[in-house]
Amino acid sequence: MKKNKIIIIGGVAGGASTATRLRRMDEFAEIIMLERGEYISFANCGMPYYIGDVITSRDALLVQSVEDMHKNFNIDVRNFSEALKIDKDKKVLTIKDLKTDKSYEETYDFLVISTGAYPVKPPIAGINEAKTLFTLRNIPDMDIIKNYINTQKPKRATVIGAGFIGIEMAENLHHLGMNVAIVEMADQVMAPIDYEMAQIVHQHIIDKGVNLILSDGVKEFRNEGKEILLSSGKTLNTDLIIFAIGVRPENMLAKEAGLKLGSRGGIWVDEYLKTTDDSIYAIGDAIEVTDFITKTETMIPLAGPANKQGRIVADNICGRKEKYNGSMGTSVAKVFDYTVGATGNNEKILKSKKLNYKVIHIHPGSHAGYYPGASTISMKLIFDNNTHAILGAQAVGMEGVDKRIDVIATAIRAGMKVTELKDLELSYAPPFSSAKDPVNMLGFVAENMINGLVKTVQYNEINELIKNGAFVIDARDSLENSFATIPGTYNIPFSEIRERLNEIPKTQKIYVFCQSGIRAYNTVRILRQNGFDAYNLDGAFKTYQSVYNPTQISFQEELDDSGKLVFESKETVKEMEIPGTPTLVVDASGLQCPGPIVKTFKSLESLNFGEVLEISATDPGFKKDVKTWVEKTQNTLIDLKEENNRFTARILKGQRTQTKSKPESGVSKEDSTIVVFSEDLDKAIAAFIIAQGAASMGKKVSLFFTFWGLNILRKPKKVKVKKSFIEKMFGSMMPRGTKKLPISKMNMMGMGPKMIKSIMKKKNVDSLEEMIKSAMDLGVKITACAMSMDIMGIKKEELIDGVEIAGVATYLGDTTTSNHNLFI
Ligand SMILES: Cc1cc2nc3c(=O)[nH]c(=O)nc-3n(C[C@H](O)[C@H](O)[C@H](O)COP(=O)(O)OP(=O)(O)OC[C@H]3O[C@@H](n4cnc5c(N)ncnc54)[C@H](O)[C@@H]3O)c2cc1C
Repeated sequence: MKKNKIIIIGGVAGGASTATRLRRMDEFAEIIMLERGEYISFANCGMPYYIGDVITSRDALLVQSVEDMHKNFNIDVRNFSEALKIDKDKKVLTIKDLKTDKSYEETYDFLVISTGAYPVKPPIAGINEAKTLFTLRNIPDMDIIKNYINTQKPKRATVIGAGFIGIEMAENLHHLGMNVAIVEMADQVMAPIDYEMAQIVHQHIIDKGVNLILSDGVKEFRNEGKEILLSSGKTLNTDLIIFAIGVRPENMLAKEAGLKLGSRGGIWVDEYLKTTDDSIYAIGDAIEVTDFITKTETMIPLAGPANKQGRIVADNICGRKEKYNGSMGTSVAKVFDYTVGATGNNEKILKSKKLNYKVIHIHPGSHAGYYPGASTISMKLIFDNNTHAILGAQAVGMEGVDKRIDVIATAIRAGMKVTELKDLELSYAPPFSSAKDPVNMLGFVAENMINGLVKTVQYNEINELIKNGAFVIDARDSLENSFATIPGTYNIPFSEIRERLNEIPKTQKIYVFCQSGIRAYNTVRILRQNGFDAYNLDGAFKTYQSVYNPTQISFQEELDDSGKLVFESKETVKEMEIPGTPTLVVDASGLQCPGPIVKTFKSLESLNFGEVLEISATDPGFKKDVKTWVEKTQNTLIDLKEENNRFTARILKGQRTQTKSKPESGVSKEDSTIVVFSEDLDKAIAAFIIAQGAASMGKKVSLFFTFWGLNILRKPKKVKVKKSFIEKMFGSMMPRGTKKLPISKMNMMGMGPKMIKSIMKKKNVDSLEEMIKSAMDLGVKITACAMSMDIMGIKKEELIDGVEIAGVATYLGDTTTSNHNLFI
């Protein structure tokens, strides 16, 4: 029997898989594997970690050597050998021996192209002169980068492109102690996930101290790559650049041989991975595959598909008829302490294909909350609104992300409907999951939505709804609500909803949210059964907050019955030894934001001044929040440790002052607060002159506008808002904005203000409008009193941009760090 002669071009993921499977299927075939480089079958996925010293053995990346592959599999491995030309009619391949520079021809019965993809390097000005710039595709690239780092000792690194390779490189360079910047043209990192999911990752990257620059691209590399000019005009100084903006299929051989290419430039293959030539197969990053979900052509440059395709092609060459059923793009990546996973299509793709889909966001725990170390997984699931097929899923969290994404990927592959996720019997014990696994939870939510038990709106719809007068209930406790909430919403804690139904209008739709969705769902069920048309904010405050307020929780002080600030501890603890052992140890692991802060607050309440609380949490937001909270509440953060994704804070109740007069942290009474009660132009000008002066001296300045003072902040043009008759009357009688303000003396029917303005102009003094703007630019906080607005019928839409609306408590909070308080 004639021996099959098979030549494989490319000796790494797809190529090496094909070769070894072929040998296992056909002991007698002649198998030649060509590789242009020195190394075959290396672990390219491990390279960023070797550069970052996480993988310390270079040899560990070299999975198979040329010799071993030959010895163990009897494969004729020819490294340093480049395939130059395919003559498909004659079935002849021209090969160049790169060591001798000599070319020769080799016939074949079957040819397998697994040439991979190369890093895109567009002709940006200065790119070829940039001596600091590197791309990463193979072992020699890795060695060059590693050698550069070892010899040049770069301190600042810039990663261009925030795909998987870029992000992994950023993390590893950061691990080496470099100051890292990431520049990404899109408004988000990691294209397989959607924006709101990426926002969680953005915050984490920023928290790690990486300079994340989104929606900006490179315009020019200057000074041999030491300086990067961005499209925004920003410049970055850098010692090392990793250029990772994406890859393109290595298709030249196929193209020149006249094989069909797909619309994206990848080699076209049929379901058996055969090209338009019967004897030539192609696999891996070089081909276009069918998207398993939409059945359209796509490119998915990942190792899993390349390896599996290699096996299928080997089988088909050996006479089997194996189909490749398409790729789903299931992927996972480590981003510092987070895992980011995705499978199937994301919303961006589905939107562009105009599919009718529904979205679910949930934030379950990675395992039972009562077992130590639980953390939140933020999950997104998308399903077909008509067929209920699962179209895609995304997850971000510290633990258990890969498991959930893999279960959903399996469900998609098995053609399961979204509701069937609830039936999956998944392994459970407290350290690993919950009796209702997050994947089951997705099934429950989907079923509730499909059955009409709950209707949802999305995080990106709620602001518009509020603007148009929607009634939105924050179903969290008032303490949580006071930390941060969606502006324009109404706080009715879930526990009070039954008693407070009379506060809710029956004539309009009601929207409800809580922190992670459970309390809002329960509230919605109560409301619906009481005849309200109630909707749940999908993904709850957690998803909303990740998009609209990703960086901070604003702590608003509250007044207790006696008018004292609840969070403010008036007493200070004199310089003293910090107790070695904490008085109270609290485990807030598994609680989601602001749960750990609420627990901190409640725990500290039970302590005496000078006692120490030790509190641990797994919520990543806790790290930042606890610092802010402790500072705001004038307690003392002794230390904050991070170990295995667990944050432990030791907090001394009260403020620890030094023996000398200056406090160690917290209240330095240097700031400035001004209450603006009057609407007179001259007084307003005086207030802003003082404010600007104080701000430019580095003080924090807070202007609190109340009663007539609110008129200074009104927009000059009439704004359409719903008002009662009295409110309309009142509004029309009061001056609308800076242009209409009277002066306190010699107003003379409006002549006075005109004279003042013209004198100010002549003397080159800024107008009041300019003063307000520059005060805001200087960081002066401008707050409108919520209570006076209500009394005077002024709506928030009528106020100029940049004004905060808050209660007297916020103002009182500001006065605690102020050394004077003016009343104008
Ligand atoms: C830094 C990095 C990290 C990655 N991390 C992951 C990850 O975590 N998970 C994941 O799923 N994927 C990851 N990938 C992608 C994954 O490595 C690829 O999808 C996979 O290797 C593709 O296999 P392939 O056989 O198509 O191409 P490759 O593995 O790239 O092999 C192609 C080979 O063909 C050779 N070649 C090309 N043209 C010729 C020619 N004319 N003659 C001879 N030889 C030729 C090339 O030299 C190359 O070695 C990563 C890739 C990189 C670069």
